[in-house]
Amino acid sequence: MENKIYDYVIVGAGIAGCSTAYFLSRHTSNILLIDTNTSVAGGASGAAGAFLSPLLGKNNPFKTLVTKALKFSTQFYHDNFSDCIINNGVLRIPKDDTDREKFKTYDHDFNFVIKDDGYFFPIGSLISSTKLCLNLTTNINKLLGFNVDKIQFTDDLWSINDKIKTNNLILCTGAYVDFLPKYVQIRPVWGQRIVCKTAKLLTHNYHKECSVSLSLKNDYDNDTKKPYLISIGATHHRLVLEKKCDNSFVFPNFSTCNHCPTGCKEDTDKLINLANDIVKLDDLEVIEAYGGARASSYDYFPIVGDLVDDKLTLEEFPYLKNGTHVQSNRFTKYKNLFVLNGVGGRGFVLSPFLAKELVEHIIDGKKLDEDIKSERLFKRWVKK
Ligand SMILES: Cc1cc2nc3c(=O)[nH]c(=O)nc-3n(C[C@H](O)[C@H](O)[C@H](O)COP(=O)(O)OP(=O)(O)OC[C@H]3O[C@@H](n4cnc5c(N)ncnc54)[C@H](O)[C@@H]3O)c2cc1C
Repeated sequence: MENKIYDYVIVGAGIAGCSTAYFLSRHTSNILLIDTNTSVAGGASGAAGAFLSPLLGKNNPFKTLVTKALKFSTQFYHDNFSDCIINNGVLRIPKDDTDREKFKTYDHDFNFVIKDDGYFFPIGSLISSTKLCLNLTTNINKLLGFNVDKIQFTDDLWSINDKIKTNNLILCTGAYVDFLPKYVQIRPVWGQRIVCKTAKLLTHNYHKECSVSLSLKNDYDNDTKKPYLISIGATHHRLVLEKKCDNSFVFPNFSTCNHCPTGCKEDTDKLINLANDIVKLDDLEVIEAYGGARASSYDYFPIVGDLVDDKLTLEEFPYLKNGTHVQSNRFTKYKNLFVLNGVGGRGFVLSPFLAKELVEHIIDGKKLDEDIKSERLFKRWVKK
């Protein structure tokens, strides 16, 4: 391994890294995908529902991005990984009377019908998260169970743990931000979802204050189809990561794995209460819980593309600190270092779309939207 030079090394085998690997593999096979976990989707991606649902509200740039990504990603999954997507629609239910009034004023980007107590969007879908990440990376070289402790740029190459060399390095590390410049400031938001048995058959998905959907695990009784497996999720807790002495991270008060039989009891109880407010679930029994940390930026937009080198940029433009305007295309970027992060609670909606954008940017120099570039985070940070 020591003598080989990869074209691309991607750190992080969640939906962001796996999607990036998939689109890059259309251009080269000399790719290595690394993760500290022993399987793909061992982080937030394996914990996710993973639900594809429209963002509701008045039009704004973030909603435009989510709508564009939802259209692209849904079609992408249908065209390429049809066995990983179930398109059975989602019923969005206003949470109270105020919310109901707001719903009437929203600009809806997708077809819907008024149904029961809410708005039914046929586009709503469910993704089999781990299977999808596996299928995206079938032909990709992987190095799993390998923790990246050090990255360094020398002799025009990126070196990883002084062992692996690559021309280009792409960081898709989710809530773990050790190698990102300090201005990136990702906020980890831990959450749990539960998988339960119930006698209730769901024909579509629901979303009110939480989501209730089919579970894509197939191990229920195939003869009677009872009890049915459903997924209820998810909770949200803003977290500060604590580093352990072995260099891994812990999420205080929560299990460190992304999958366990019981989960956090408080969260489990909360989810059951919220779910029962949506649909009556007979004979409910919790089977297992999944937990993980979503990575969110301060403005909820993802972070995609090149990374501004804050040190060199400030050396060249020290007056940036006083608020003087400098066009962001003049900022110095780290050479051959890229990022796809900050996909928050919508990784399965955003990642395929953003990975395609990122790869077209790297290969063909396609311009990325200003809203998703690292420059915006640097400019905000430097003013402080
Ligand atoms: C309970 C829950 C429910 C969710 N439900 C939905 C949903 O319904 N729909 C939806 O679209 N999204 C959902 N999300 C959000 C979704 O899971 C995330 O947006 C998505 O998984 C983020 O993907 P990622 O690849 O950025 O991060 P991750 O999946 O966390 O992947 C990052 C990977 O990087 C690896 N890594 C980090 N640092 C290193 C290192 N130093 N060395 C080696 N490897 C490293 C990690 O091990 C990890 O595997 C949910 C999230 C949670 C927690």
